Amino acid sequence: MIDDSSRVLLIYTGGTIGMVENPETGFLESFNFEHLNSHIPELQRFRFQVDHIVFDPVIDSSNIRPEHWQKMVRTIEDNYEDYDGFVILHGTDTMAYTASALSFMIENLSKPVVLTGSQLPIGKLRTDAKENLITALEIAADKDLIGLPIVPEVCIFFQNYLIRGNRASKINADNFNAFRSFNYPYLAKSGVHIWYDKKAILPVNNEKKTRFHYHLDSRIVVLRLFPGIDQTTVEAILNIDGIKAVVLETYGSGNAPLTTWFLDAIRDAVKRGVIIVNVTQCEIGSVDMQRYETGLELLKAGVISGFDSTAEAAIAKLMFLIGHSYEKEDIKVRMRVPLVGEITRPEERINERI
Ligand code: ASP
Repeated sequence: MIDDSSRVLLIYTGGTIGMVENPETGFLESFNFEHLNSHIPELQRFRFQVDHIVFDPVIDSSNIRPEHWQKMVRTIEDNYEDYDGFVILHGTDTMAYTASALSFMIENLSKPVVLTGSQLPIGKLRTDAKENLITALEIAADKDLIGLPIVPEVCIFFQNYLIRGNRASKINADNFNAFRSFNYPYLAKSGVHIWYDKKAILPVNNEKKTRFHYHLDSRIVVLRLFPGIDQTTVEAILNIDGIKAVVLETYGSGNAPLTTWFLDAIRDAVKRGVIIVNVTQCEIGSVDMQRYETGLELLKAGVISGFDSTAEAAIAKLMFLIGHSYEKEDIKVRMRVPLVGEITRPEERINERI
């Protein structure tokens, strides 16, 4: 139910969605966002209010940095009381990272923050921008029967699906269905109506206030295993000066080679205080280091499970926890607990299957 008094703030950060093709050069260029209405006249048909803020300069999302996430959170904090929901227009390339980071940076969110973008610029005839933007705005304004926002989460709306932000992966560089949630149900699906899966949506804790966090530490590295990975490379990565954490992308249910030099390098890094989080290279399923000897050795070496986390969410969560100077052991505990629905613990997965 969208009431006429709803107010949504549209935050344009950049990306293909806000571009038009220069007829002379054929290059994509950012268009003047003040002319949004002329590109999407449908916006005037909304009965609720949509205001907008444009980042200056706008950025291709490949250039996104933690400073931009801080700016997005600051914009939301500054306007939190005045709006019922927020839509962030963002390039698709790093949208899953941004959505993950924002989900941790805004604690106890009570209003929708919907990220969207498009594969074709808004000025193109066949653009997917219109449908994505219009539905994202509706979701941001939508309320239940007692007037509370339906989706008080950081999420991504893309081609008919609403995805929890920290569960999203970009899976397609060409097609309109560019995002997928492999390990968690969609929060909503749009068709003739918008169907919300209310059981899948995080509840708001009304006892707690919304808090905005800004500290992030990016001294993290991703180490993706492949058969034949070189000893010197692995050792060099694990010994990078000042490194705080490693997201180790393993095989299958969290398995890695049993080679002595490899396990020694892992043990040595853990002893030096480096936090190593195991995420699987598989899109679907979870790390379970007790299934094979090749996983068990990692567990014994002190590697912690990332369960069914996306790599994007594991990176953002580590940046957030390390940035907030939690004790190392505390970070390890928090990595194993869902803070904002980013992982499914094994006992919940079993319940799910039953
Ligand atoms: N390179 C663009 C970006 O991520 C692609 C897009 O918007 O889809 O900003």
